[in-house]
Amino acid sequence: MTSPLPSPLAEQVETAFWHRYGERPRLFCAPGRVNLIGEHTDYNDGFVLPMAIDRSTWVAATPRADRRVELHSLNLHARAHFDLDGPAGKQSHQWSAYVEGIARVLDKWGARPKGANLVIATDIPLGAGLSSSAALEIAAGLALLSVSGHEEVDRVQLARAGQKAEHDYVGTKCGIMDQYVSAMARVDHALLIDCRSLDAKQIPMKLTDHALLILDTGVKHELATSAYNQRRAECEEGTRLLRRALPNIRALRDVTPKDLEQHEHLLPDPIRRRVRHVVHENERTLRASRALKEGNLTEVGRLMAESHQSLRDDYEVSCPELDTLVEAVTGQPGVIGSRMTGGGFGGSTITIVRKDAVESVIAKATELFAQRHQRDPRALLTTAAAGAREL
Ligand code: ADP
Ligand code: MG
Repeated sequence: MTSPLPSPLAEQVETAFWHRYGERPRLFCAPGRVNLIGEHTDYNDGFVLPMAIDRSTWVAATPRADRRVELHSLNLHARAHFDLDGPAGKQSHQWSAYVEGIARVLDKWGARPKGANLVIATDIPLGAGLSSSAALEIAAGLALLSVSGHEEVDRVQLARAGQKAEHDYVGTKCGIMDQYVSAMARVDHALLIDCRSLDAKQIPMKLTDHALLILDTGVKHELATSAYNQRRAECEEGTRLLRRALPNIRALRDVTPKDLEQHEHLLPDPIRRRVRHVVHENERTLRASRALKEGNLTEVGRLMAESHQSLRDDYEVSCPELDTLVEAVTGQPGVIGSRMTGGGFGGSTITIVRKDAVESVIAKATELFAQRHQRDPRALLTTAAAGAREL
């Protein structure tokens, strides 16, 4: 008897693979992620502090003799294929573009993946801001490289290939955070990423008595893209104006809270508030990583609360649904801290909560949310999980 697989999904992809191809595949997985703190800091050359969640994308894979890649998503009940020796498909948001993208990027970079048969399934909700896209890229990339004989996969390269795939083959100009954390996360650690140098540090985060609660508003706001572009422009304008007093700054990353206090008068509203958010959010992210390391959860919680207020009032990227969820849990017994996570205008909140209080906190959040928005939020509990790996 073989030992049981660690996840029903692993079993599902293995069984589906067996039925279709009649051979035993190798199994790979890569997790989704949530950002603990450090929001809208990435494009300002700043810091982010994400962690991998307990939900993953699984890929069952075997190599082929030719260079065709066949893929089957159990989530979408859809099949696709492409030929690594043939012309690339057009840039598209189609699900297969994420896989074709990373395969072609790895090929261009010299890894020459073989053709492969892939069966894919995930328990990360798609399009919910938990990065099912990076998980798909990283799991598929790891699978393709491994079955092609590259047993020592460089995780940084893999992450960069995933980002490049999403830029060039899907058309989403994402940062490196999602792919980095999916490729490199460790159990019971968050990952502090310096978005300028792209250095990443593992930050121990042992939550013995606490859990991480993700509450999804279910809102996908159309405003997100235009507001995102506008915020980026405002940050650039803020940097330009501050250069009059601080000629050496390259990005808001280079501005300290003290600098800002001194030169705030150079900035008109709302630029002043946008800059204030970014400068302090960077500071909060560094502080939170130190506090985590020291096991000072109270401090982490305090910083999360500040982050939310700043995103709501200064950066103005929250929305009523996110604010409801944060308001509902803040001050509840057992709650350490709560904030919106991700770009905003919808998506999820993240809350650190004592394990014995999880149920009552979910109930509180559901009650207020239903009262104000006439439906239930989706709750998901997680620990800080491991990054991509082969089973
Ligand atoms: P997020 O990364 O927040 O989940 P995205 O819009 O970036 O949202 O990525 C979601 C898209 O990724 C889906 O619409 C789908 O095209 C693709 N995707 C992710 N996981 C899978 C999967 N298991 N099967 C098929 N497509 C997937
Ligand atoms: Mg994504």
